[in-house]
Amino acid sequence: MEQARRKLLTERAEIVAVLETNDHKPVKLDQTAVGRLSRMDAMQVQALAQDVRRRRQQRMVAIAKALQRIDEDEYGYCLNCADDMDPKRLEIDATAEYCVACAEKEGL
Ligand SMILES: [Zn+2]
Repeated sequence: MEQARRKLLTERAEIVAVLETNDHKPVKLDQTAVGRLSRMDAMQVQALAQDVRRRRQQRMVAIAKALQRIDEDEYGYCLNCADDMDPKRLEIDATAEYCVACAEKEGL
């Protein structure tokens, strides 16, 4: 559990670092490229950046929730069936909320 907490804190620190270095930079549009294609490219790049940002935010929420579960001594139990989760699953993703069986059965 201490290991999971360390892992979560490390990942959170990494995301915060990325947020601080990247997100202040505005998406730069190439002013010399005025063609329709290049504008679509720029829009695609922007959409991609937005997607990455959204995922990062979701990850931050998942990490915060996992850390809270650790603090409340509820970490490592499936949120659906309350069974112990496979430690290997938590090793792969320390923010996992459901056991493999529930994830497969319920599509969680
Ligand atoms: Zn379960």
